Amino acid sequence: MEFQPLNIYNTLSRQKERFEPLNPPFVGLYVCGPTVYSDVHLGNCRTFISFDLIYRYLLHLGYKVRYVRNITDAGHLEGDRDEGDDKFAKKARLEQLEPMEIVQRYTLGFHDVMRAFNTLPPSIEPTATGHIIEQIEMIKQIISNGYAYEVNGTVYFDVEKYSKEFNYGQLTNRLLEDMIANTRELGGQDEKKGRLDFALWINAKPEHIMRWPSPWGVGFPGWHIECSAMSTKYLGATFDIHGGGMDLAATHHTNEIAQSQACSNVQPCRFWMHTNMLTVNGTRMSKSAGNGFLPGELFTGNHPLLEKGYSPMAVRFFMMQTHYRSTLDFSNEALQAAEKGYQRLMSAVKKLNSVKASDVTSVSLSSIRKNAYDAMNDDFNSPVMVAQLFELVRIINSANDGKEKMTKEDIAEAKSIIQHFVFDIAGLMDDTVSSGDQSVR
Ligand SMILES: [Zn+2]
Repeated sequence: MEFQPLNIYNTLSRQKERFEPLNPPFVGLYVCGPTVYSDVHLGNCRTFISFDLIYRYLLHLGYKVRYVRNITDAGHLEGDRDEGDDKFAKKARLEQLEPMEIVQRYTLGFHDVMRAFNTLPPSIEPTATGHIIEQIEMIKQIISNGYAYEVNGTVYFDVEKYSKEFNYGQLTNRLLEDMIANTRELGGQDEKKGRLDFALWINAKPEHIMRWPSPWGVGFPGWHIECSAMSTKYLGATFDIHGGGMDLAATHHTNEIAQSQACSNVQPCRFWMHTNMLTVNGTRMSKSAGNGFLPGELFTGNHPLLEKGYSPMAVRFFMMQTHYRSTLDFSNEALQAAEKGYQRLMSAVKKLNSVKASDVTSVSLSSIRKNAYDAMNDDFNSPVMVAQLFELVRIINSANDGKEKMTKEDIAEAKSIIQHFVFDIAGLMDDTVSSGDQSVR
């Protein structure tokens, strides 16, 4: 059977490109993980479930994938910029806990949610605090290459200097002048030279709990350098795919590219992939808008905006029905429709076992498998793949009712398609029989 080759939409080139690993059959995949200072947000879950589908599909195609997804447990400041409080220290003050107690609690909670959604664990899950030395080494290299400077124990990346040789706005197709115009003017208090300069290393004030010695004094790393240092350590200076939520592209990923080019004069990866955001009844899901529910609230239905709870697999199926680059709208109607669809799919999987094999066939399954592969090879188009599964559901239901005839081979092929696309690739499980054994805090 001939399939379309795998094409992936690359944010950097703004088009779909043929995917060829740099060192086949190996694929290096890096996804920016959670900042573990609070419960994981459903929008982040969507990102990680999307990349779970991508990881599963690459494995299914036979690639040997090293999937690295970090845990941000230091250095991520309020507002994603250099100003403001450290998120861990702030939360620790509020709850009277050690910063690492916060990290431990929410890392465990994050893993519980990821397990409930049946995501495969990454090959390596490195933490920022476990890679301080690697980050310091990378910062030293960037300074010695002339792209960073130190002021009072804080090291800033020199965007102006970098922009003389590289295109700072390349990932999101923005002009440097526009980026500068959209950033606040520097005041007398500012240490940095340019408005777009960002911190690689931050001098720790006496009250700052998380701190490490460095060549520039006691401090802690900026947020962006951790992903550059850890992806380089585990996947090499240039690897195949870097992913994350699309809200990371404009600052975090833009700065990752700058750091890699300033350090080793290379692009960190071949493909940049970004997942789109979640909306609730048409408006962006956010805590401040009061419409952000947590995964646990979605499972129990314990939230004013939810009419009822939905099983993790019904939610996962719901996410598969929208392409990862489209916005996904949570509404009670859409969730209930997805839940019905998921139950129909699982019921057909069970019915297949009771279909009587016939000597003659009246069905054709070959186009289902081909169309499902072609859909997944077209930038992981899961909604089109799911539509093919429903064509199979229709055939199984008709055969079970005696309206269509399936041979022994047809039944074996239907089982194989279900194993590949429903369980291995879409990562669904049948949770319609036993409820209540998913433990999520
Ligand atoms: Zn990152």
